[in-house]
Amino acid sequence: MNICPVNAVAFEDNPLDGKIAIVSSEKCIDCGMCYKTCPVNEWPEMQKTKICYAGWSMNNDVRKKSASGGIAAELYKYYLNKGCWIAGCEMDEQFSAKISLRNTGYSFFQNSKYVYSDMGDTFTQIERVLKEKNEVLFVGLPCQVSGLRKYLQIKGINTENLLCVDLICHGVIQAQWLKDYVRSKEKKTKKKASHIAFRDYRFGTQNFVLTLGDDEDIFFAAPVNRTDEYQIAYHRGVAYRNNCYNCFYAQENRTGDITLGDFTGVGTEREFLYEKQKISCVLVNSKKAFDVLNEMKREGYIFLDERPISEEYNREQRLHTPTPVPSERKRFLMNISRGKSFGSAIRSSMKLRMIKNEIKAVFAIRGN
Ligand SMILES: Cc1cc2nc3c(=O)[nH]c(=O)nc-3n(C[C@H](O)[C@H](O)[C@H](O)COP(=O)(O)OP(=O)(O)OC[C@H]3O[C@@H](n4cnc5c(N)ncnc54)[C@H](O)[C@@H]3O)c2cc1C
Repeated sequence: MNICPVNAVAFEDNPLDGKIAIVSSEKCIDCGMCYKTCPVNEWPEMQKTKICYAGWSMNNDVRKKSASGGIAAELYKYYLNKGCWIAGCEMDEQFSAKISLRNTGYSFFQNSKYVYSDMGDTFTQIERVLKEKNEVLFVGLPCQVSGLRKYLQIKGINTENLLCVDLICHGVIQAQWLKDYVRSKEKKTKKKASHIAFRDYRFGTQNFVLTLGDDEDIFFAAPVNRTDEYQIAYHRGVAYRNNCYNCFYAQENRTGDITLGDFTGVGTEREFLYEKQKISCVLVNSKKAFDVLNEMKREGYIFLDERPISEEYNREQRLHTPTPVPSERKRFLMNISRGKSFGSAIRSSMKLRMIKNEIKAVFAIRGN
């Protein structure tokens, strides 16, 4: 990211959190730049939500392949059609999630990747294109939006042409554990994975089915809330990076101009006349965002229906507090520190939960 004037900051792999920043005490000149740009140490000005919409893409294919209503993909389309730059998270063939900046194509950004995503040098790339007077759309986790805003502020960059979208987030798992998980499934199935989906659209993204596939087909599919190690680790919040459990950004005030999430509470306070699945919750936090969204609605990219904000606040805990530390985490960490693999550490710490899930599933089948 090149914010340190003497390159004293380097990245190292930590067994629990994955990639973390380390400051070399020998090189450090105490300028405080790393501290000032860090989204954990220094918080930016947060924005209060003005309007809450239920929203979705007017294109059925976009909506089907996106995690919820496909608003992010439509924002990308709208920005690309205006000749602007877009940034988001894509998964490479080594199963590393990376934030990148592009000016063509958006489909690789679609859908959730439930893992830590690496910023690489995207901040400096965004700095460059903003200096050239281009418009940029950035979609990422709230801590990433915050980091970007702080970086640009410190560099004195004019951000009039930047629109930031943050996602409601319950936490991320470090990159290496996802890789270990994929390798273990490849070994078991004797297949080589070329892609992963955390909410595969072929099963309906609202069902959170994790799949692995090769060039021919899906060869592995794990339902949520059963016995799959990654599914249980992610959705029960056992294996997040340490700072996710103290996340400052799990609150009502937001870093993005727009905040996107799954609108599970839609229709709880006032009649909702549409299908309740695959709806994005769209929180509008700035005038710029209001103008962009309403122009997109007029131009037929998206549908928006204004909702009482309490429909989201009453349902979505991650707009109030970070994910609580589950009781099983202690055992999980102990297993990891004793050298167990990610899969085996999860299986041993989540045994009881897995049994409960299986019993529930049997009763659910009988009840049908
Ligand atoms: C790690 C994570 C946790 C989430 N937790 C919640 C939650 O607790 N509650 C809730 O309501 N919604 C949550 N969401 C948001 C939700 O899954 C949808 O992304 C959101 O509803 C927008 O849906 P969409 O259909 O408009 O766009 P999508 O098709 O989901 O695309 C949204 C954008 O997400 C970006 N993205 C995907 N994965 C990552 C990643 N790892 N790092 C950075 N950016 C990424 C993509 O680049 C894309 O721009 C989470 C998303 C992520 C990635």
